Amino acid sequence: MTTTTDPTTPTKPADALDVGALVGQLTLEEKAELLGGSDFWRTTPVERLGIGKVWLSDGPHGLRAQAEDGDHLGLLAADPAVAFPPAAALASTWDVDLLARVGAAIGEEARAKGVSVVLGPGVNMKRSPLCGRNFEYFSEDPRLAGTVGAAFVKGVQSQGVGTSLKHFAANNQETERMSVSADVDERTLREIYLPAFERVVTEAQPWTVMCSYNRINGVFASQDRWLLTDVLRGDWGFRGAVVSDWGAVYDREKAVHAGLDLEMPSSGGLGTRRVLDAVRSGELSVEDVDLAVTRVLELVAKAQPALADRGSADLEAHHALAREAAARSAVLLQNDGVLPLDGAATGTVAVVGELARTPRFQGGGSSQVTPTRVDAALPALQDALGERLVFAAGYALDDDAPADQVAALRDEALAAARAAEVVVLFLGLPDAYESEGFDRVHMHLPPQQTALLEALADAGARVVVVLSNGSVVEVAPWRDRAAAILETWLLGQAGGGAVADLLLGRANPSGRLAETFPLRYEDNPALGNFPGEAGHVRYGEGLLIGYRWYDARALEVAFPFGHGLSYTTFDYSDLAVDVLDDGPAPRVRVALTVTNTGERAGHEVVQVYVTDPESSVFRPVQELGGFGVVELEAGASQRVEVELDARAFQFWHPEVSRWVAEPGRFGVRVGASSRDVRLEAEIELAGEVVVPELTADSTVEAWLAHPLAGPPLRAQLEADPAAAGMFFAPEVGVMMRAIPLRRIARFPGFPVSEADLEAAAAQADAAYRAGAR
Ligand code: BGC
Repeated sequence: MTTTTDPTTPTKPADALDVGALVGQLTLEEKAELLGGSDFWRTTPVERLGIGKVWLSDGPHGLRAQAEDGDHLGLLAADPAVAFPPAAALASTWDVDLLARVGAAIGEEARAKGVSVVLGPGVNMKRSPLCGRNFEYFSEDPRLAGTVGAAFVKGVQSQGVGTSLKHFAANNQETERMSVSADVDERTLREIYLPAFERVVTEAQPWTVMCSYNRINGVFASQDRWLLTDVLRGDWGFRGAVVSDWGAVYDREKAVHAGLDLEMPSSGGLGTRRVLDAVRSGELSVEDVDLAVTRVLELVAKAQPALADRGSADLEAHHALAREAAARSAVLLQNDGVLPLDGAATGTVAVVGELARTPRFQGGGSSQVTPTRVDAALPALQDALGERLVFAAGYALDDDAPADQVAALRDEALAAARAAEVVVLFLGLPDAYESEGFDRVHMHLPPQQTALLEALADAGARVVVVLSNGSVVEVAPWRDRAAAILETWLLGQAGGGAVADLLLGRANPSGRLAETFPLRYEDNPALGNFPGEAGHVRYGEGLLIGYRWYDARALEVAFPFGHGLSYTTFDYSDLAVDVLDDGPAPRVRVALTVTNTGERAGHEVVQVYVTDPESSVFRPVQELGGFGVVELEAGASQRVEVELDARAFQFWHPEVSRWVAEPGRFGVRVGASSRDVRLEAEIELAGEVVVPELTADSTVEAWLAHPLAGPPLRAQLEADPAAAGMFFAPEVGVMMRAIPLRRIARFPGFPVSEADLEAAAAQADAAYRAGAR
C-alpha cells in the first residue's frame, strides 16, 4: 500500500492550523468554497493560507478509495482493500471488541492511503426486510445497532482517521430515496429511528455525520435544522461536522442554516454561488457560514497528524481478521445434528451450488470494495475433504438461464447427491436481487434454487443449506427439507474459509440474529406502509418494528431476533439484579452464571430484555436492554454482568417531550434469544412522576390528578351533590372527567369564567414546577 505523499497533504502542519485565526483571514468567497467538495471525494483547499484538502472515502466494511475518477454507485474501480463482512453479518456477532478491531483495521488501511474519513458505518434501522441496503445496516434493534456502531467508530478513529455516521436519518428504503418523505411521529423517531445515531454520537463522537437524501415529515434531512442542530448538537452534544450524502443538498443556503457544514461532492460552484447570494441578500447570516467553516476547518485540522504519519497496513493480518469476523458472524439457524461434518462417519460430501465457488461476499453500490483476494468455500472444503468431495453447480445465478441448462445443472446435482452421504447446498440471493439503489420486491430465494432443494430432498438427500443473503429471506416454505441451515449473510472476502471452518467444526457457530426471520413476508410490520406512495412513506407501525411487532401481535416467526445455535450448549443460572441508581435515570446491574454444558468451546450471547407492564403509555412487550458475549471452554462457567442504563427503562414521553422512566414494576428477562428466556426477575423502580402542564384545556381527570390543583377541585366537586353525582358516578363520571375543563366552563351556570380557569391553571402549574425544582 502506498505511503508516499499526495496532494491531499496540506502545506501547513497540524499545530499551525489555528482554526479560529483562519476563519478571520478567509474571504467570504473562500469560506463559501470551503463548504463544498473540490472534486468527488475531497474537500476544498485554500492554498494561500496553507489549508489543504482531506479525502473522504467509502466505506463501511472496507476501504473504497478511488484515487482517480470517482463515483458513488460502485461502478468505477477502487484500489484494492480488504473486504470485511458487511454490517448485517458483523452485527450478528454482537461483539463490540470484534467490531472495534475490524474498525481499527479499516482505519489503518485508510490512514496508510491518506484517506481521512471513512464513510460509515450505516446505523439505519431495518424497517422492512425488503430494503435493498439492509446488508449495510446492523439491526432492527436500535440498541444493538448503536452499540456495535459505536464500537466500530471507536476502532476506526483509534487510527487518527474519522468516520461518517450515516444516513441521518429515517433512511429506511431505497425506493425514491432522494425524495421520499418518511412520515413518522416524534416518539417513534426518538425511540426507534434516532437512538442508534444518538448512542454512536454520545459514546464515540464520530468526526462526521452524513445526512440522508430523504425528507422527514416533509423536510429534507439536509436542511432540517431540528434534526441537524437541535437534536444532533443540542440534545446529543455532537462536536463534529455534518456532511451531505453525495448529492443530498437541495437548497444550499437553507442547509447551511440547518447545520449542514460540508456539501459533497463538488457541486461545480453552484453551492458556493447560492451561499454567497444568500449572505449578500441577508437570507443567510455570516455567523451561520462561519460556524460551518469552523467545523470544516476543524475536520481538516483533525486529519493532519495521521496524514503526517501514515504508516502502513498489514493486509495479510486484515485478511485473517476478516476470516475470524466471518466465522463469528454466521448464524446456525437449525441443526438436527448433521453439523459439524467432522465425524468419522462422514463419507462423501456433495457440495452443490454455484455460490460455493462464486461467493457473493458483499452488496452492490457505494460500499463495494475491490478485494485484495477472495476465498470461496469450495476450494477450502476441497482442501479439507480431498477425494471425499464432489461438486455440482446445481443452478445458474441468472434467473433467465435457458430451461435445458437449468435441467442439466439440476440432474448433475442429483447425481452428485446420490453418491454422497451429505449434501452441502449453497443457496442465496444473486447481486441482481439486492443492492443499494433499489428495494427487493419479494423475500424469496430464486426459484431455481428452491426447486433444486426440493428435488434433492425428494431424492432422499440429507441437505445442509448454507445461505448467503444480505437480509432475511423466506425459509418457512422449505426449512423442513433441510437437516441444518447455516445463515452466512455476506461474509466478506475471507468468508469461504470461515464457512469451511464452521461446517467442519474447526469453528463453532456463535452468531445470533440481529433481525427476525418472519414466517411470511405478509407478517412483516411495514406491510401496507412500504415503500409508500405519492412521495410519502407512512411509518404506520410506529414503535413496532422487528421483534417489537411480532411480539405485540403474538405472531409465530421462523427464527426470532437473537436466535442462533451452537455446537455446544449453555446453561444460565444464579440471576442477581441490583438497582445501582434508583433515581429518574435508573441504572441496574444484571449478573448471572453461564456454563458451557457441552463438549466444545464456544461463545454465548447473553441477552437482557426489559418489560414495563405498568406503563401509562403503550410500550412494546419487551425491548433489548443490554447484552454481553462470553467465550467459554467446554465445562467452564463464568459470571456475566450486563449493566442496564436509564434508556433500558425510559420512554420518550409524548406530553413532556423528554425521556422518562415511570415509577413501578419492571421485568428483567435474560435469554438466549428474544423468545428463549432462561431467567427472569422483577424490580421496582422509583422512577419519576411526570405531571404534564396544566392548562384550561386539560381534562377534568388531568386537573384532578394535578398535585396542587387536584385536591381543591376534588373537594369543591365533592361538596356539591349535583357535581359529585356527575363527576364521580361510576359510568357517567368517566365520561365527564374526560372532558376538557374549559368546555365544561362554557356550559350554562358554571360558576368559573374561562379567564379565571386559565389563571388558575397557570398558577397551579407554576407553583408545582417551582416546588418540584
Ligand atoms: C451513498 C452513501 C455513500 C456515498 C458516497 C451515496 O450514494 O448513499 O452511503 O457514502 O454515496 O459514495
